[in-house]
Amino acid sequence: MAELDLSKKVADRYLKREVLGEGTYGVVYKAIDTETGQTVAIKKIRLGKQKEGVNFTALREIKLLKELKYPYIIELIDAFPHKGNLHLVFEFMETDLEAVIRDRNIFLSPGDIKSFLQMTLKGLAFCHKKWVLHRDMKPNNLLIGSDGQLKLADFGLARIFGSPDRRFTHQVFARWYRAPELLFGTKQYGSGVDVWAAACIFAELLLRRPFLQGSSDIDQLGKIFAALGTPSPSQWPDMVYLPDYVEYQYVPAPPLRSLFPVASDDALDLLSKMFTYDPKVRISAQQALEHRYFTSAPLPTDPDKLPRPAPKREPKASDFDSHEGPTVLSPPRKSRRVMPGRDGFEGNSLQRDKVEDNVGNSRQSAGDNTGKNDPAPMSLDFSVFGLKPPNRPTINSADRSHLKRKLDLEFQQPE
Ligand code: AMP
Repeated sequence: MAELDLSKKVADRYLKREVLGEGTYGVVYKAIDTETGQTVAIKKIRLGKQKEGVNFTALREIKLLKELKYPYIIELIDAFPHKGNLHLVFEFMETDLEAVIRDRNIFLSPGDIKSFLQMTLKGLAFCHKKWVLHRDMKPNNLLIGSDGQLKLADFGLARIFGSPDRRFTHQVFARWYRAPELLFGTKQYGSGVDVWAAACIFAELLLRRPFLQGSSDIDQLGKIFAALGTPSPSQWPDMVYLPDYVEYQYVPAPPLRSLFPVASDDALDLLSKMFTYDPKVRISAQQALEHRYFTSAPLPTDPDKLPRPAPKREPKASDFDSHEGPTVLSPPRKSRRVMPGRDGFEGNSLQRDKVEDNVGNSRQSAGDNTGKNDPAPMSLDFSVFGLKPPNRPTINSADRSHLKRKLDLEFQQPE
């Protein structure tokens, strides 16, 4: 069988080294490609009950990703099935943007932030040009090489695989980076969802912590509206027709400057265009790249001059034990009116930064903001992560099956 021949390849060609981490889809190993001497990262994707082989649709999609070659997108060097798992071989990357943002020893200059955002948008614009959506944009999916080059990783994988069950099951798909149209349950969406996520990453680079840390989809929308103002139907006419639309109390938009006191006017102008509610009006990745922010002083820092954390990877939040995931006590109902509440938004609290500094790791505090102190909306998710650091929200099984249904990319049992 073809699979047997292919399976030899892992032993024959790639020399496995240490485990780099466990991600959304499975374990990632460091390995040496014995044919080229190149260090690579091999992602072993669990295929659940699927033991006999790999669906051809998935392999076709993977082949498409192999064609997606660009300096700002991680290169998929090889892909092969082995013992019922799919192995994806990527170029090895030293670190990721999450590690940069959370490293308190690193000072990020305005030029550095510009450079990281520019590389992110270059990768996105290329993929959107090729009609590929990322759909799981977040800082730890932006990998950084030894030359400082940032590359989008996990590109298209969300589309192909959805995501396996995680310990922190929840109705999320990287919730903190989720566009409002997704949170309102849109069935049709486009590249704007990635631009929204890129805006969240831009904001995170400016603030050095996640901007909108919702503890449930309802709370996420509340956080968004508290920060950016509740959208009016004239601002976003299609909003009221979205499947999960819930009316939120009107909150006027505070000046963006009050949330990002040290950002330049150009940075704020671009940020506001990326955070446009109506996805039809939201700036595209390509248009964002053409914004004057990137040509005004200071210019983007050369990638090889960008600050990077010490090469050794730190253990991630996912390495810690945690309590069970949050329990949904009551599903949201359309008729409910939800109060975004300014108090629930703590995105720009400098004091909070200080507390995080004391903890020593800003990410660890991400789950502190789980709504415990928020004014109670009428529908609540209680996210009780306990004392240990929480994981960032990821795709849950409900989302996965939803995605799979939508995309009709279910792995099939062999006949
Ligand atoms: P992921 O499945 O992408 O979340 O990755 C799980 C872990 O493997 C994370 O710590 C990643 O930083 C690491 N990782 C993923 N891809 C690579 C790569 N190409 N090079 C180095 N480390 C990687």
